[in-house]
Amino acid sequence: MSDDERELRPATQVVHAGERMPAPAGAPTATPVYATTTFTYATMREMDEVFAGAREGHVYTRHGNPTVDALEEAVRALEGGRRSVAFASGMAALHGALVACELRPGTSVLASQDLYGATATLLAEVFAPFGVKTETCDFGDAERLRALARELRPRVLIAETISNPLLRVCDVEQTAAVAREAGARLVVDNTFATPLLCRPLRHGADFVVHSATKFLGGHGDATGGLVVAREEEDGARLYRAMKLAGGILGVWEAHEILRGIKTLAVRLECQCENARLLAERLAGHERVARVHYPTLEQRELAARVLGGQMGGALVTLELKEATREAAFRFMDALRLCVRSTSLGDVFTGVLHPATASHRELAPERRRALGITDGVVRVSVGLEDIRDIVTDIVRALEA
Ligand code: PLP
Repeated sequence: MSDDERELRPATQVVHAGERMPAPAGAPTATPVYATTTFTYATMREMDEVFAGAREGHVYTRHGNPTVDALEEAVRALEGGRRSVAFASGMAALHGALVACELRPGTSVLASQDLYGATATLLAEVFAPFGVKTETCDFGDAERLRALARELRPRVLIAETISNPLLRVCDVEQTAAVAREAGARLVVDNTFATPLLCRPLRHGADFVVHSATKFLGGHGDATGGLVVAREEEDGARLYRAMKLAGGILGVWEAHEILRGIKTLAVRLECQCENARLLAERLAGHERVARVHYPTLEQRELAARVLGGQMGGALVTLELKEATREAAFRFMDALRLCVRSTSLGDVFTGVLHPATASHRELAPERRRALGITDGVVRVSVGLEDIRDIVTDIVRALEA
């Protein structure tokens, strides 16, 4: 304590004592959590220069924070883009990416019919009232996609690398070519694939989006989202969308997600192998009408887009008895696998899309997409595959 501080009264001391110690002599080996909303400088001139962008630094955590910066840099490097921006959730990230595409009244979006339910609802309920029209089609039908893009001249094409919940692989390169020809931006939600299976920017996408709540975090304890832009100007628009709408990622979540990313490669390899084994084991099961798994159903496309043997860590089952009661009975009979409304965690989680991820879609629309009441999505975890198989097979037969 300095002599000055010794003269301060206790009420002042409790507010200020111990603050702003010199930076430690050794650099921390793990990224520190900068739990602070503001940053101060020795002079107002320095602060002004930081505000003006003439000097490196932080002033206010909504504008940027070193812990969040570290996560943004990690995901930017993994996806190979120019700039990355973190958001409070995957939905906030999708919203930010769409705002950065400069959607205006009278512009349109051409969306894959297989989008996550909330993404479709975001377009229908948040963007449509501002005059942004959305058309959907099967992006697997290249002719139809090209024809619609020529006709609509959309500002944005949006798809998922591996779709939720039917695990359809998007031919990102082909879709990017259609987008370029139509003068549109391509936004790819890479949540299911992760940058370890696919780097959509390298296939020509303009923005790649993640719900970091899933595989990047991986432990079911942090909600967040990230967007990476291929070009600097798009990155600048993205940053402004984050800063002005304010859906920022908290520092604690940034820390958890950053820590999760460190084990992504080993987690994903094990989870993908477990998923492949589970898909193969369930393929001929008498209670299962169909098993969706990219390398089982779309071998050539999966190998091309996902760049190797791995088909992702999700397996989707269609029960022969395609009713909500049968699906609930099966899910309730599970003892190990967790009934959980997420994916990409270290544990095996099961979800009923018709009543969870795609609940807000009209039943006719769900049926048209093939998301019947008998569809159950399994996010395969790190447990011993023999225990996962035993639990699922026993529950199917219950
Ligand atoms: N994108 C996909 C493919 C998802 O599955 C989800 C959530 O399940 C989201 C985005 C939204 O992520 P969050 O829940 O972090 O907002």
